[in-house]
Amino acid sequence: MMRQYELVERVRRYNPNTDEALLDRAYVYAMKAHGSQLRASGDPYFSHPLEVAAILTDLKLDDATIVAALLHDTIEDTDATKAEIERLFGAQIATLVEGLTKIKKLDLVSKQAKQAENLRKLLLAIADDVRVLLVKLADRLHNMRTLKWVPPEKRDRVAQETLDIYAPLAARMGMQEMREELEDLAFRQLSPEAYDSITTRVSELRQHNGPLVQEIERELTEELERRGIHAEVKGREKRTFSIWGKMERKAIGFEQLSDLYGFRVIVDSVEDCYRALGVVHTKWAIVPGRFKDYISTPKPNDYRSVHTTVVGPRRQRVELQIRTRDMDEIAEYGIAAHALYKDPSGAPGVMLSSETRAYAWLRKTIENLSQGLSPEEFLEHTKLELFHDQVFCFTPKGRLIALPRKATPIDFAYAVHTDVGNTAVGCKINGTIAPLVSELKNGDEVEIITSKAQTPPGAWETIAVTGKARAAVRRATRAAVRAQYSGLGRKIAERAFAKAGKALSDEEMARAVPRLARAAADDVFAAVGRGEIKTDDLIRAAYPEWVPPRLEDRALGAAAANAEGWFELRRGHNLKFKIPGGATDERLDAIPIRGINGDLPVRFAPDGGAVPGDRIVGILTPGEGITIYPIQSQSLQGFEDAPERWLDVRWDVDELSEARFPARLAVTARNEPGSLAQVASAIGDRGGNIEGLQMRTRSADFTEMMIDIEVFDLRHLNGIMSGLKDRDVVSNVERVND
Ligand code: MN
Repeated sequence: MMRQYELVERVRRYNPNTDEALLDRAYVYAMKAHGSQLRASGDPYFSHPLEVAAILTDLKLDDATIVAALLHDTIEDTDATKAEIERLFGAQIATLVEGLTKIKKLDLVSKQAKQAENLRKLLLAIADDVRVLLVKLADRLHNMRTLKWVPPEKRDRVAQETLDIYAPLAARMGMQEMREELEDLAFRQLSPEAYDSITTRVSELRQHNGPLVQEIERELTEELERRGIHAEVKGREKRTFSIWGKMERKAIGFEQLSDLYGFRVIVDSVEDCYRALGVVHTKWAIVPGRFKDYISTPKPNDYRSVHTTVVGPRRQRVELQIRTRDMDEIAEYGIAAHALYKDPSGAPGVMLSSETRAYAWLRKTIENLSQGLSPEEFLEHTKLELFHDQVFCFTPKGRLIALPRKATPIDFAYAVHTDVGNTAVGCKINGTIAPLVSELKNGDEVEIITSKAQTPPGAWETIAVTGKARAAVRRATRAAVRAQYSGLGRKIAERAFAKAGKALSDEEMARAVPRLARAAADDVFAAVGRGEIKTDDLIRAAYPEWVPPRLEDRALGAAAANAEGWFELRRGHNLKFKIPGGATDERLDAIPIRGINGDLPVRFAPDGGAVPGDRIVGILTPGEGITIYPIQSQSLQGFEDAPERWLDVRWDVDELSEARFPARLAVTARNEPGSLAQVASAIGDRGGNIEGLQMRTRSADFTEMMIDIEVFDLRHLNGIMSGLKDRDVVSNVERVND
């Protein structure tokens, strides 16, 4: 296992200003945190984060990345917490380690192929610091290198994931070395026979050809030197997976593969790139269609190089990549290239004075990555739009749930399962209790708290973002409303049966149901609740011999003044008035209120009514129906403890409707002959109907009147009130809502 000083030494070789104390602290902390944990290989677990850190030193990464690599498994696998890491190593490193912890949950995710694309997007989305991805790739590389220690049944899954997600990601980040090694390791696991056959053929060919690669290297170098171009030529055999890929793509056998060798020509300047190209094309025959100039048009991941293929020495097809040293480093290490430690001008060895600038560069690169440009890049444009619009969250078991941006835990719950959504009462986001209306962020772990007693509030329909959640809430609301109706209907029926002296049992209901042409008792009750079936008809359906009693005449209220000193005018005077407790029921089903599904019995607040233009609420009274109150009504205080009885309702009045609505006014008028007539005409002049009037003498000079009127809407009412105020006889007018 690598010693502490060895790690520091590796870093110091490329970064003389490294914070040794920080590296030392991280080394010791991670070693202690993992303690006696072992890897499947039998090695101490700590050897793994150490190797990951070592891989990243090869990429010459900054201290924070190396430290994050050392700590990358501590939050997930040991007692370490983000808070502790933040205290010991600072916020930046804590954030990196936390990002890695989030990504690690991906390893638990079921590895269906259809998730691969989402997972790649998620990686890009949650690793808003590109260094998180670099550590993750190094982590995966080390795990792949030690794959033989993983239980056999898990190896394929890990390898497939590597091929589906991590190798393309490395490619995307321009890290060719990383990509090729990941691919070959995965390929060896997934298709051992193909892998063996290709490696065998390649090594046979190598023996047959002898030192072909070195020969071509020498010949190329000398030819360029003769033309005054100093170049370093490096040749190599193609990687196993890439050979296999070419055979698959072109459906050809190994023998037909011509360009098994790739050569890299590294020169000093861009100008030399094109001069070298000229030399090569003059000396050897060019293979048509293989020339590409990525110097004038770099790839989105910043890859720059000139590609060409020629028929070279010994009639071998030779693939050439010509580029400068800077371009080569970008090509090799991509994002991880020395940029952190290099002056933007490209001169090597010059430290960037400002870490902010390096960080900005990384950010820009990751942005370029996620904006994937040309179709051959692994995220096409259309998919990226999707990615930008999406947010990826986890269930506590690690299932990945992709949701649209701005999605809430309500959407999450319904995405998991409709039952979970319908019974959701709360949630935890990343372990902390949070409101169900929170906006979810990438990588959030969401736990939905459910209760069997819950039904989804109708308001969720407007809060939810996904169609699935909205439709489910709508369905559940309909079912709940129906249950409300049938509960209401059952109570109404029970009372009516009791009054009629008849039993209401399942047996009687079973008899009544078909006679009322309904499917089930619940349907009948719901219909009673909605007012579609009268209780008399229900009783008769259960007891055909029953005869409803005759309605008794109702006594009219007395004209005598009551205890409070009010007296009432009676019908027959020149004013219409309301019968106390009067039967206004025939009008109830016509009340135009939205927000009440169906036509549950609806009426207006008895003391003051409500008119269109008022903000209103409905109060559900089981066994009676819904009463509409204007929001300013005092009576609403009495229902504050029963929020389940409150219904969100709105007016639904046609502009041209002739319907009138009840309102109550308190008018104070001077005591003088004809004052009542003046008040009445002020109301009548403006088209108000007086429905009832009570009055009492307040003093020798003033009379107080309580007037129930009917108006079209609030504007109409306000017009009447100002008409009243205009009369000299009127000293005060107020709207009353008890
Ligand atoms: Mn790890």
